Amino acid sequence: MPLPVLGRDVRVPVAGGGEVPYAALDYAASAPALQRVWDDVAAYAPYYGSVHRGAGYLSQLSTELFENSRATVAAFLGCRPDDQVVFTRSTTDSLNLLAAALPAGTRVFVFETEHHAALLPWARRAETGETPVTWLDAPRSHAQAVETLERALAAREPYGPALVCVTGASNVTGEVWPVRELAAAAHAHGARIVLDAAQLAPHRAVDIAELDVDWVAFSGHKLYAPFGAGVLAGRADWLRAAEPYLAGGGATRSVRRDASGAPAVEWFDTVARHEAGSPNVIGAHAVASACRALSEAGFERLAAREDVLLRRLREGLAAVPGVRVLSLFGEDAPRVGVVSFVVHGWESSAFAAALSGEYGIGVRDGLFCAHPLVRALLAEGSAVRVSFGVGTPDEHIERFVRAVGELVRRGV
Ligand code: PLP
Repeated sequence: MPLPVLGRDVRVPVAGGGEVPYAALDYAASAPALQRVWDDVAAYAPYYGSVHRGAGYLSQLSTELFENSRATVAAFLGCRPDDQVVFTRSTTDSLNLLAAALPAGTRVFVFETEHHAALLPWARRAETGETPVTWLDAPRSHAQAVETLERALAAREPYGPALVCVTGASNVTGEVWPVRELAAAAHAHGARIVLDAAQLAPHRAVDIAELDVDWVAFSGHKLYAPFGAGVLAGRADWLRAAEPYLAGGGATRSVRRDASGAPAVEWFDTVARHEAGSPNVIGAHAVASACRALSEAGFERLAAREDVLLRRLREGLAAVPGVRVLSLFGEDAPRVGVVSFVVHGWESSAFAAALSGEYGIGVRDGLFCAHPLVRALLAEGSAVRVSFGVGTPDEHIERFVRAVGELVRRGV
């Protein structure tokens, strides 16, 4: 069953006059919405109402939709019965929430290769002295990643909680990380693990129980559901014991004034604890819709199609002299549809601008909010990133490969 995405009819101006169909090849930043997500949101929109806050029919209906969306996400992620699914704004928000919920003294282990969203929440806690962090150098193979983590975990003090944070697929190289093996290493040393699935979940099935990770975070807008919702799913105990992420209505069982006149608050210890404020029911509904659509389409089928495009893209780039593709783990590493490269003699920003202005191709250039990783891979400068997924036609990849060849032949 094909999964159409929005935006296929958009035409954009190009140099020399005229318009061409836009080739959206920046899915890793934000993917286009699935048509099905858009339709589901439109169908619900007239029934929109407050969640957990109204006796009226539409409030009841919206509350049910919101909670059903949570159940759909839990099924999509293969959550364990005791896991909680917290709706957040994004992966960044989810990881900041988890960072704020760490039990006192938790030591965090993180590779320098992470996206800033999975690097900086721990760094900030480390700065305030609340959370010691062990920073791990970029590994150059899956085996080295597991060995590096094991060595670091074995060297830690044999007491106190510990958390490993790892990405499922890199937003720079597209390479898939050995999540199951890293989870096994973490657990063997009494640590927990959180998976940053922002780039993995749109491309591969992410099963929390099967991977045996403790938490998963992802963003709706990278999962074809751009309505402002994200997810943190996983173990309830740390979340239940933590201070509420936001203080406000919806997270409280009761508020009274104490003897001094100040509010004395009894917080929920359910998932509502970390969802203060009116929830983003449209965002949650959109995420659930995308989860259903992707599951029904089947990740094996989606990945097989993506592999064909990825092979064509990588072969196309390899055939152009002066193009270097960035990689940590080498040619044979499993990867998703995300490729970053540099072109000899070109500034990445000029190259990306030429792809846009002359060919109507949207890519990204820069350091991709993963500065330490790009700096580990590149002595200087920045890179161009091309990324794709569901709904990408062959023509977009063909146009891209042709454009790269033509630009390189022509020169800056
Ligand atoms: N983690 C990875 C691997 C990402 O690629 C991104 C975004 O690019 C994030 C986290 C942060 O996602 P968001 O910007 O949706 O919070």
